[in-house]
Amino acid sequence: MDIALDPELAAFRDEVAAFLADAVTPELLEEMDAQEAAESNWSPTFSRELAARGWLNLTWPREYGGGAKPLTYLAVLNEQLGRVQAPIGWHNIATEWVAMPLIRFGTDAQKSRFLPPIARAELCFGPAFTEPEAGSDLASIKTRAVRDGDDYVLNGLKVFSTEAHRANYLWLLAVTDPDAQRHRNLSVFIVDTTTPGVTIKGVRTINHGRVNDVYLEEVRVPADNRVGPENEGWRVAMSTLNIERSGMYYVAASQALLRDLVEFCRHAERRGRPLLADQSVRRGLAAWAVEFEAQRALSQRVVWMQSQGHEPSVEPSVQSMRMRMAQHPFANFALDVLGLAGQLSPGDAGAPLRGRIERLYLASCSQHSGGTTEIQKNLIALRGLGLPRS
Ligand SMILES: Cc1cc2nc3c(=O)[nH]c(=O)nc-3n(C[C@H](O)[C@H](O)[C@H](O)COP(=O)(O)OP(=O)(O)OC[C@H]3O[C@@H](n4cnc5c(N)ncnc54)[C@H](O)[C@@H]3O)c2cc1C
Repeated sequence: MDIALDPELAAFRDEVAAFLADAVTPELLEEMDAQEAAESNWSPTFSRELAARGWLNLTWPREYGGGAKPLTYLAVLNEQLGRVQAPIGWHNIATEWVAMPLIRFGTDAQKSRFLPPIARAELCFGPAFTEPEAGSDLASIKTRAVRDGDDYVLNGLKVFSTEAHRANYLWLLAVTDPDAQRHRNLSVFIVDTTTPGVTIKGVRTINHGRVNDVYLEEVRVPADNRVGPENEGWRVAMSTLNIERSGMYYVAASQALLRDLVEFCRHAERRGRPLLADQSVRRGLAAWAVEFEAQRALSQRVVWMQSQGHEPSVEPSVQSMRMRMAQHPFANFALDVLGLAGQLSPGDAGAPLRGRIERLYLASCSQHSGGTTEIQKNLIALRGLGLPRS
């Protein structure tokens, strides 16, 4: 693996860093802090500023208006965005989950209809895969899509759909052939959230956020909105999941949070002594610095593989699991270091580190989004170590 930055890539990193130093203003951070947890990473205005610089379609081929840059550019961009915890929630499902599979599997008409507005940050997408009886075992979904003339008629219930209440479209998986073999019976659809028959109901999460139940009752979706061949949705959906999982943004955000924690310890005192003089605090900070550097190397491995034209298999699972398993212990450690004030939320007067540790602590209770740690372990055992299915 060689991920050294050549001069051109280093110049791009510096350009992004300089832009972010101006664009991520105290006002923007205040706006983020005032949002509820699930929306705290969301700003259409900021996304449009990135779009204006051509950074939402940086790696797309030129024929679709993209910058045709290698994936290493996207990794560099994501790392810089993560370092300042820039809001990416409005556009990132569209740019990473939707655009890349569209380029790979979509029709020409779909590409010209959806790619330009995605590149301009005009569209927000919500993933709608999970169902009450199908989460880890996603291939067991029941939502039906039945062909009727030029449309499909959809019926079913999707749960845990994070963006559905503000998304323009759902990126949705449904059964198109109930009699076909497992994994060969599904299709991916782009569903306009304003279509009659779509009902979106919010569900509160422990970290003051929101996910959604999405009820689909006789929802007519044009057949033109099916992405990829009928019954090959599993392939489309899985390419989506691989694209999303390098985790570069989140590792950089953890490293930035750790740097802020070190700064806090440099200035804060406990029982008349600087926190940094406490041996257990010093040891803890050093151990977390090592952990996040290891996570960064795992992220870079995924990006490097993709930049070489390889489809990562088990590597995103290794990265994702390592990151997830560290989240809660890190939040616990940081809460201990901050003391009682660490429990203050974003926006509360006197909240250290802008309340981000409290938010992280609550968010770290949720280890399920994007696939649970147990499922990642199964994948690593099967595909990575070649162990038999248990
Ligand atoms: C905050 C949040 C946001 C989410 N956002 C979205 C979204 O936007 N769109 C979307 O479609 N989905 C979303 N999800 C759903 C997420 O993908 C599922 O929660 C996840 O896939 C697990 O499915 P489940 O909740 O049905 O749990 P289950 O699959 O019922 O699992 C329950 C428990 O059993 C374990 N388990 C299950 N099968 C096995 C096995 N074979 N071996 C070992 N252990 C196993 C699991 O690890 C878990 O601990 C979100 C979830 C959360 C919590």
